[in-house]
Amino acid sequence: MMNRRPLELYIHIPFCARKCAYCDFLSFAVPERVYQDYMDKLIEEIYGQSLCFSDWSVTSIFLGGGTPSLLPPRFMEELFAVLHGCFSIEEDAEITIEANPGTLTMEKLEVYQESGINRLSLGLQSADDQELRVLGRIHTFDDFLKSYQRARQAGFSNISVDLMSALPGQDVHSWKNTLRKVVMLKPEHISAYSLIIEEGTPFYEWYGEVGGPEGGITRRDGKNGGGKEDFLTRSVLPGDRRSRRMELPPLPDEDTDREIYHMTKELLAGQGYERYEISNYARPGYECRHNIGYWTGADYLGLGLGASSYIGGYRYHNVADMGEYLSLNMKKAGAAARDIKELSLDEKMEEFMFLGLRMMRGVSGSDFLGRFGRNMWNLYAVTLRRMEGQGLIEIDTPWVRLTDRGIDVSNRVLCEFLL
Ligand code: SF4
Repeated sequence: MMNRRPLELYIHIPFCARKCAYCDFLSFAVPERVYQDYMDKLIEEIYGQSLCFSDWSVTSIFLGGGTPSLLPPRFMEELFAVLHGCFSIEEDAEITIEANPGTLTMEKLEVYQESGINRLSLGLQSADDQELRVLGRIHTFDDFLKSYQRARQAGFSNISVDLMSALPGQDVHSWKNTLRKVVMLKPEHISAYSLIIEEGTPFYEWYGEVGGPEGGITRRDGKNGGGKEDFLTRSVLPGDRRSRRMELPPLPDEDTDREIYHMTKELLAGQGYERYEISNYARPGYECRHNIGYWTGADYLGLGLGASSYIGGYRYHNVADMGEYLSLNMKKAGAAARDIKELSLDEKMEEFMFLGLRMMRGVSGSDFLGRFGRNMWNLYAVTLRRMEGQGLIEIDTPWVRLTDRGIDVSNRVLCEFLL
């Protein structure tokens, strides 16, 4: 049998019911009639691109967004019929769809099952309805519970729940409450990221602007104010038609953030969740294979608006403008691809370290040698010695991994591996 190269597929569905206040993903609300145009073009792109991957074997598919679960089920039926016709998809491929509570019906879930989708990633963020409101989410905790139970009834045995900490107004107690409510449901996987205030979002306008030394504001660059308990007042939350004034609670200060972070690790470990990446926890055997591929340098093909690809050492991303995407002739392979760049050896090695060290198992010097023909111990001799001396990494030949202290300051440590 022909030896096929492994390939991961990422498919981007950029539609959301409305934009959350913290979100800088490529996502937006559109009238429903646009769904058809987009899906037609996406399918054209799949046909065009798949011709270049006839001797590859798809190991995972990730439908991300946006909110893929917003689409009426017939679109998923068609999409998967095309994917199965165009690609050789491994029988045990991990196939994930991102879904938001409030958008999942039993009919959709049944179609997902029939289409071979075997993993559901549910975006909850918080179990506190007030926190959800401030984030601009479209759902309540109760909506999430209904979606979760429906998904179990439909037969999903691999569910991931996305959570977000360091939210406006959040304290250790409310975060613990969120974690407890979620672990009671026993999802197979939990992602727990801290909120980052991204430029260009309403949150940046509300919090970033005023986040000076007195604002108690965590910013993208990691700077933090003094934790002053003031309340910001802003008008109009995203999606609200009426102009209204609302008190915006302050972001947690750095000490609370730290406490939340350490408590998450302990509480989840006590419930049988192993932390396998800085922000990801899973029951044994339920680590997200698609993301592990991404962190370990696997080839992935991105399809759809703005999707990124990494194939054979080349990186590119698709056009991000909807009008332009819809106007392309996708029969030409790579029609949507922009900014194609071959990574240099140094860039590949940096990335291997930078992404691989996010994983708790760390990176292996043998793997490094096999991939790049270079000796990791020599190349990073000074950095490794210094980081080990500071207690930020541990060496367990052939592995190098971050220590708990190293994870605490991971951004700084990972930057040390830039060549
Ligand atoms: S649902 Fe997700 S992708 Fe959509 S706006 Fe909210 S955070 Fe962004």
